[in-house]
Amino acid sequence: VPDPRDRCGRDLSQLQGKQLGGWSACSCGAGGMKEGGRCSASAPAFAEPPDSVDPLALELVDGKMVDGGPPVQWTDIAGQVSVKAAIEEELVWPILRPGAYTGAGRPPRTILLFGPRGTGKTLLSRCISTQLGSSLLKLSGAALLSKWKADAEKILQTVFFVASCRQPAVVLITEAESLLSARAGEDGAQAGNLKSQLLSYLDNVATSAEHNVVVIGTTRRPGAMDEAAHRRFAKRFYIAPPDSVARRQILHRALAQQNACLSEREMASLVQHTESFSGGELVRLCQQAGAATLRGLPGQLQATSYEDFESAFCKVRPAASPKELDSLAEWDKLYGSRH
Ligand code: ADP
Repeated sequence: VPDPRDRCGRDLSQLQGKQLGGWSACSCGAGGMKEGGRCSASAPAFAEPPDSVDPLALELVDGKMVDGGPPVQWTDIAGQVSVKAAIEEELVWPILRPGAYTGAGRPPRTILLFGPRGTGKTLLSRCISTQLGSSLLKLSGAALLSKWKADAEKILQTVFFVASCRQPAVVLITEAESLLSARAGEDGAQAGNLKSQLLSYLDNVATSAEHNVVVIGTTRRPGAMDEAAHRRFAKRFYIAPPDSVARRQILHRALAQQNACLSEREMASLVQHTESFSGGELVRLCQQAGAATLRGLPGQLQATSYEDFESAFCKVRPAASPKELDSLAEWDKLYGSRH
């Protein structure tokens, strides 16, 4: 007979069928939770959300913030070789094989990915989540301070509650600087409260031995955070625009999905003319060039040619200025984790 009690000794049989915003105590006896009949027995039991967890926030977080995108493998990410290796060795493996970590202290659970828009920070976070076989909870710091402003504290609290129910879990906070800005205290009491709330979650995730929760912060403006805040991330990696080898790979993959017809010389020229484009901008450039072929004669699918790129280059330009790239590289020198 399965033991109806969870790890904390609470009697789950009393709670069977009690709905918690789509979650209910699982009756399998493993102390897990079930969602729509699917049992996650490895998750620690949360027989009942604490009173402070708002049911509507729970519904919102569980319904809207859990990323359901396709799995992402390391090979889907072009370039970023040393960052991928460091993350795999220091973050992913120690969680998958507890006890095998040989580094000093506890393996990192909090990382900051900084770099221009479209360089693959979200892609990398989704890859980490795929490798861990975990849930990914995605929250925009800027949205929390605008769209969700009225319920920001509740939502942040609920995100971490759901993450601990769904362990292993990755919490991805995009535009993290808006929550951790050096000016948060001056921007009013709420911004200050949210900042201290998030800092204490980061501390908790970093130190709690039983929690398998990883927090990834992403930002384009790491310099907007104060030092105490960005140092809470155990590792800080610069996700720079792709180098020429990675650009070729991204262009090649994007063009393979189109009816493209480019010589090796034309490809080399594209790679050369796209320095400081992000991966996202390279994909958009190819889409823009491909769109030109659709304007040909109806029923005749033309191949994307080098000429189509000439007009696409007028429409898609790198958003990050040389000055922005210099200051990111500078910040990396000062605070980035060497790898
Ligand atoms: P960020 O979170 O840094 O703003 P994203 O991860 O959302 O950027 O990237 C946007 C898109 O650009 C991705 O979905 C992918 O198609 C493409 N991309 C960006 N970087 C890479 C990369 N290194 N390798 C392959 N594709 C990339």
